[in-house]
Amino acid sequence: MGVFQSEGIILRSRTFGEADKILTILTKDRGKIEAVARGARRPRNRLVGASQQFSYLRVLVFEGKSIPQLSQAEIIRSFSILRDDLVKMAYAAWWAEVIDVFLPWAEVNEEVFRFLLAGLLVLEKAEEPALLSCAFELRLLKYFGFQPALEVCARCSRPVGQAVAGFSVEEGGVICPHCHQEQAVKLLPLSVASLRLLRDLAQADLRTVPQWRPDEKNRLEVGRLLVAFIELRAERPLKSLSFLQSLLAST
Ligand SMILES: [Zn+2]
Repeated sequence: MGVFQSEGIILRSRTFGEADKILTILTKDRGKIEAVARGARRPRNRLVGASQQFSYLRVLVFEGKSIPQLSQAEIIRSFSILRDDLVKMAYAAWWAEVIDVFLPWAEVNEEVFRFLLAGLLVLEKAEEPALLSCAFELRLLKYFGFQPALEVCARCSRPVGQAVAGFSVEEGGVICPHCHQEQAVKLLPLSVASLRLLRDLAQADLRTVPQWRPDEKNRLEVGRLLVAFIELRAERPLKSLSFLQSLLAST
């Protein structure tokens, strides 16, 4: 039993019982937690605004015998812009799900917390979020220890320069022509320009990325392989990804 205070971002919100919500909150001090917001579906409840997805809050959480309870929540930033714009909402939900999938419960990771917050702030203003999302995904993979090999061959670890046979989702990065010749594996295409874009994105300051204007062909190539890379490692269907993809296909 105890009580703690932290900053938190709502990753996920689902209905519970008659009037409650169960929230998955990424907190700064306690990592990813689950907490119930009692009465949060009643119109005049004080937790209504705070319990919405992506809200950035100062929270007070009671830890009882069962599920922790969100006792107080003060909105620092509501990120309502992200919920009002369907495309941005879909991207933010996708980022939240990737974090939810890869971050174990209660593992404190202030870096990921700060990074999500920074990412949502950039997403709010971004006109074209697709490339921003690539940069975000790449950085998240790094935080979770899944950074794809981009400078060296994922199989033989030799530096690859610009000469790669392609990208292996299974082996975790670029494959050199030599390795591919010895034993051909399934590769996704990766042109020289796309490889350069990937490397640039891996180093990028997120705030600058929405202004980049790479060739659409390269952006799509990079986007596809990152999504395949994440899907394979997630080991479960990603609901927000299907939603994002169907949304982008229809626009
Ligand atoms: Zn190799």
